[in-house]
Amino acid sequence: MKALVAVKRVIDYNVKVRVKADQSDVDLSNTKMSINPFCEIAVEEAVRLKEAGVINEIVVVSIGDKSCQEQIRAALALGGDRGIQVECATAPSALDVARILANIQQQEQADLLLLGKQAIDSDNNQTGQMLAALLNCPQATCASAVKIEGNQALVTREVDGGLLTVSMPLPAVITTDLRLNEPRFAALPKIMQAKRKPLAVQNLAELGITLTDDVKLLAVNAPAERQGGSKVASVDELIDKLRNEAKVI
Ligand code: AMP
Repeated sequence: MKALVAVKRVIDYNVKVRVKADQSDVDLSNTKMSINPFCEIAVEEAVRLKEAGVINEIVVVSIGDKSCQEQIRAALALGGDRGIQVECATAPSALDVARILANIQQQEQADLLLLGKQAIDSDNNQTGQMLAALLNCPQATCASAVKIEGNQALVTREVDGGLLTVSMPLPAVITTDLRLNEPRFAALPKIMQAKRKPLAVQNLAELGITLTDDVKLLAVNAPAERQGGSKVASVDELIDKLRNEAKVI
């Protein structure tokens, strides 16, 4: 059984995001980049399934410029077997990412397609759903537990009302939520070994894909500065402030 895991290169979640002076985009200069945390959980889940003897090959795919090879190598150090970088100079929309992943799936014929539930830069939460629609295969988003039994995946999903467990035949798309697992740290020998694992580069022309460019980035604005809080001495003062300053009562 084969797993295809999609990993996105994003600004590290510990880094404070800066906006370019002309507000045209986020400023990525001298910024630490990492695997999107939900994608790291997807890699970890694939590795655990491999350790359990359920799957035997993990293919890691990332779409972006050459720099995303760093995140593919990081995923290979965590336990991926080989990588595919799809060369893409501009940031593709969620639909374009889904089209590219669907194309890779035609080549790879993976049984399990593991994605993060969302990328923490765009916060789209769209790609997995679109990929399943393009492949016309079942999907389970926001997974907090995954069990594979024969040709069926049993997935517990985190939904607004609690937990929902679904069963679906493979191949299927699963997107990972935060509580699915806690990703391991890569040991130094594994980081060294990952440098020698196969990493293929494909371009959009080879895949026969033209980007739709269906999403345009108009401007990026930093959130408004938060005003400092203040302490009140009494309930009366609080009511007065709510009524006369905040004007909410
Ligand atoms: P999104 O729908 O943009 O929030 O992204 C959801 C998931 O789609 C991510 O966690 C990744 O697994 C996958 N994904 C999105 N963009 C890329 C990309 N450029 N390369 C590889 N995977 C991606």
